[in-house]
Amino acid sequence: MIKIWKEKERLDGEIVDCTTAVIVTRGCSWRKCYMCSYFLESRDLSEKELIDQVDAIFNEKSQVVKIFTSGSFFDEREIPEKVRKYVRDKVKEKGIKKLIVESRPEFIKDEILKDFEGINLEVGIGLESSNDFVREKYINKGFSFEEFKKAASKLRSYGFRVKAYLLLKPPFMSEREALNDVLNSIEEAKDLVDIFSLNLTNVQKNTLVEKLWLSKLYRPPWLWSAVEVLKKADVEIICDPLAAGKSRGPHNCGKCDRYVAKAIRNFSLTQNKKDLEVHCECLEKWKVSLEIEDFSRVPLFD
Ligand code: SF4
Ligand SMILES: [Zn+2]
Repeated sequence: MIKIWKEKERLDGEIVDCTTAVIVTRGCSWRKCYMCSYFLESRDLSEKELIDQVDAIFNEKSQVVKIFTSGSFFDEREIPEKVRKYVRDKVKEKGIKKLIVESRPEFIKDEILKDFEGINLEVGIGLESSNDFVREKYINKGFSFEEFKKAASKLRSYGFRVKAYLLLKPPFMSEREALNDVLNSIEEAKDLVDIFSLNLTNVQKNTLVEKLWLSKLYRPPWLWSAVEVLKKADVEIICDPLAAGKSRGPHNCGKCDRYVAKAIRNFSLTQNKKDLEVHCECLEKWKVSLEIEDFSRVPLFD
């Protein structure tokens, strides 16, 4: 059922309380991305059951509310109009200072956005990469950079904030290609985006990524690659390294994973590059991976 937790979030440069919820819906309508199996947790629920979940979120006291559906908040098949408007009314009633949701670009339409006018709304879009070849062939995302750009400028025309998710290490890419692709994507998208969120690929059940991983043809990214992106990016960028340290998640050597993941999380709150001054002897192995995976095309280290 619904997962709700409290965390910290940046709001106008300050660190405030945030209620984050992953609500159960009938799930993403696309369901074809190579690294994603979120829809395995989906269920067909009535409007009443959806509204009960929304009530549970707004019973918590916070300045910021994040609602994730593991799909698209603006997809009417997931969140019907009545429930969407109920969320909007709750945000107003409870004086929530910022609402954060996610959506694929095709659901970002004027008739939906106009209902949220006057609300401090941030919409996350899974751009993953600015490179159409990478997004189409390695991720199977099903929309183009052009479509992302149109959706982002539509959001901005209403005064809403745009968050772009970028995927670090889609399948079929070497560690260095993946790192460079994210840095390039930041450059190409930064004028359209208010904040980036770096997603580190983890191996989810029943996905193509899992098949490759089981055949030793895929390794999730090194946490060092994430640190490198965060150090080099000259934009607001956050990263929550889910499953860090696990073999299915982004990881380094096993000894430094918790410490490096914590540094990444701290940086995400403070945006202070000093938080990224972390070291471990496995940095040398990571550098070897960067050099050689371009040629080996398979992971060199566990
Ligand atoms: S990554 Fe997003 S768009 Fe792709 S299948 Fe998963 S929920 Fe749907
Ligand atoms: Zn290490």
